[in-house]
Amino acid sequence: MKKHNFSAGPCILPKSVMQKASEAVINFNGLDLSLLEISHRSKDFVAVMERAQKLALEHLELQNKGYKALFLQGGASMEFLRVAYNLLENKAAYLNTGTWSSKSIKEAKIFGEVVEVASSKDQNFNYIPKNYSIPSDIDYFHCTSNNTIFGTQLKNFPKTDAPMVCDMSSDIFSRQLDFSKFSIIYAGAQKNMGPAGTTLIVIKEDVLGKVSRTIPSLMNYNVHIGKDSMFNTPAVFAVYVSMLTLEWLKEKGGVSAIEKMNDKKADLIYSEIDRNPLFTGFVANEEDRSTMNATFNLTDESLADKFDTLWQGAGINGLNGHRSVGGYRASMYNALELESVQVLVDTMRELERKG
Ligand SMILES: *Cc1c(COP(=O)(O)O)cnc(C)c1O
Repeated sequence: MKKHNFSAGPCILPKSVMQKASEAVINFNGLDLSLLEISHRSKDFVAVMERAQKLALEHLELQNKGYKALFLQGGASMEFLRVAYNLLENKAAYLNTGTWSSKSIKEAKIFGEVVEVASSKDQNFNYIPKNYSIPSDIDYFHCTSNNTIFGTQLKNFPKTDAPMVCDMSSDIFSRQLDFSKFSIIYAGAQKNMGPAGTTLIVIKEDVLGKVSRTIPSLMNYNVHIGKDSMFNTPAVFAVYVSMLTLEWLKEKGGVSAIEKMNDKKADLIYSEIDRNPLFTGFVANEEDRSTMNATFNLTDESLADKFDTLWQGAGINGLNGHRSVGGYRASMYNALELESVQVLVDTMRELERKG
């Protein structure tokens, strides 16, 4: 039975990517060796790393603009502390829009003063704060572009003269933005780029080297830049599959083409949530709704068992909301097809018919 995978992460990847990845595990580049058993310093793997870095910068339109792309380990959670380790001398400003923002703030506080410029915690993070002011005497401003758990997304980014750092784990490569506004962008691979195990970090080099503390090698972005992400053994499989996904995206027409498709998918699900009296959206304001993660609830909780049976019977996977929100969450990353969203919408209509 065809599966419709709405999992929040790790999550859906293109079938063609899975096929190529599985072939490379058996016989990589016709070498009669597995990708998993060759040196990361072999010319075949070095080419993979270089290609992945190049494609990442290309998709973000950041080539030849002073940026470096790194593929490191530790997940996005590692960057919560690595960002502060490398950039926080005195004070940093953070926008708190959810669980991941809160975690990044907690780590940054180890290294210096953190000003929380605004927070939507008062309403369980169901909106994006606006009209806050950012102090000028800060080392950097940090935000989370898409709040995977709550289903909110920043559509506009604040103006600040300070370097902007953004956790884009769950919406990287999903929409066009002026990425040159950001000094550091980071994203765990497992939401929209590849398997768990690697994190993409895109850094404008001029923000580095300004703190007075000694930074241990593995924590030091400059060390990783100097070694082209090969200071220690990279997560070879995760980097390879990320590269395949970035190639797939290029064949699809790049970020601008996938954005149109993502908008269509989001329109389809949100129109049904708004129309169908049995459902209600979790996010307070329409303009804050995420195109990647749509969070919603049943208006009548007693229908939960019926609805669960319907969507599970339709081959839908991974629709349960995060434990801190409850309800449902439809994660619609790049590789999810419009057809899968239609199947979900059909089950919502079927529930309405059968009551
Ligand atoms: C999933 C997620 C994280 C955590 O990623 P790990 O790779 O598990 O550390 C951080 N930020 C956002 C926005 C996420 O969606």
